[in-house]
Amino acid sequence: MQTSSSHLETRAVHGGMNGVRESGSHVPVIDFSTTNPLGSVETGGLSYEELATGHDLGEGRSAVYQRLWQPGVARFEESLAGLEGTDGAVAFGSGMAALAAVLIATASAGRPHVIAVRPLYGGTDHVLESGLLGTEVTWATVDEVAGAIRPDTGLVVVETPANPTLELVDLRRLADAAGEVPLLVDNTFATPVLQRPAEHGATLVLHSATKYLGGHGDVMGGVVAADRDWVERLRRVRALTGGLLHPMAAYLLHRGLRTLPLRVRAQQATARELAERLAGHPAVARVHYPGLPGQDPLGLLGTQLEGPGSIIALELAGGFDAAVRFTESCELVTHAVSLGGVDSLVQHPASLTHRPVAGEAKPGEAVVRLSIGLEHVDDLAADLFAALDAAGAPEVGGPVADQSAGDADEGASTRAA
Ligand SMILES: *Cc1c(COP(=O)(O)O)cnc(C)c1O
Repeated sequence: MQTSSSHLETRAVHGGMNGVRESGSHVPVIDFSTTNPLGSVETGGLSYEELATGHDLGEGRSAVYQRLWQPGVARFEESLAGLEGTDGAVAFGSGMAALAAVLIATASAGRPHVIAVRPLYGGTDHVLESGLLGTEVTWATVDEVAGAIRPDTGLVVVETPANPTLELVDLRRLADAAGEVPLLVDNTFATPVLQRPAEHGATLVLHSATKYLGGHGDVMGGVVAADRDWVERLRRVRALTGGLLHPMAAYLLHRGLRTLPLRVRAQQATARELAERLAGHPAVARVHYPGLPGQDPLGLLGTQLEGPGSIIALELAGGFDAAVRFTESCELVTHAVSLGGVDSLVQHPASLTHRPVAGEAKPGEAVVRLSIGLEHVDDLAADLFAALDAAGAPEVGGPVADQSAGDADEGASTRAA
């Protein structure tokens, strides 16, 4: 099926479905085989040679062993690459396994120096800071990147929108600063629906597929979209280190992509409305959300990033204690780590996801992070406003809460953004 020229929504539904209809099925069959018939000794040997060096499964070849090739994983990879607009993609058992593969490939190629722009996901920050995988990190601002490049620099790492406070980075500027050095963009928050970093100079586009791509909080995975050369390198690392995606997880992630545009836009519409309403509450010192006035100083919304997404960070006026009370008072919104699913979540980054981050780069203690799901906006607003009242803000009272209830009736919850 030729889908590369169609719109993103169509590619999301039909990507990675080659041969399914011809086989008499409507959806791909899940193949759990760990090993595969080799045919002749010669075919087996050639198949092994090709797959272990990172090539595609060839015509008439054997998939050999699940660590080398898995058809359902390949379907998910093909579909994701079609959305990101890259040659291919390589999937792993988690976002961190995907990042680890990139760092191992970088360090083992003799260029272990990594330049990274904070803020980053806590785990990413930690693995870079610790040097666990043989890399050495220099933390830099976008302006400092060009000056930080050394002969042994093998990678520049950035996340935009960033976790948890949603700062936006101009990818084109950063790619220019990186020059010949590969640029890895963690695109977990935006998803290819809102941002396709390869169009703005990124070499590697990383996702924690656990978040929006799966979208239901029930499957872990990671994936890197890249050009052919990097796809081969990452497959070689995966074949040797074994950070594999399970066939069942690959099936669920592939299925998740089919509704990704719909989910991302509906969640975003709700988040947009909530961000505006929350900004008016006296218990809230600041709402971090790129869609609010003044929060896109570089003018990236509508150019690099199609919309502000559905993550909101709140800074509570009452500091750490208020942040804790707010988090623990949410009822409809679950107090849990992770993001990007159909149900809304809240967490306190400084205590949890960003706990291992060094002091100066750690998010503030008054900051809570919300991942907005597919619930009705009024139900979410009611829960969040009740939690804000419980957080013990100065002057929290009827007028604010009443006003929010009034606004709620006018707002369309699933308006497309
Ligand atoms: C969750 C997350 C990761 C790590 O992914 P896992 O699937 O949990 O290993 C990396 N980057 C970002 C932005 C994330 O949110």
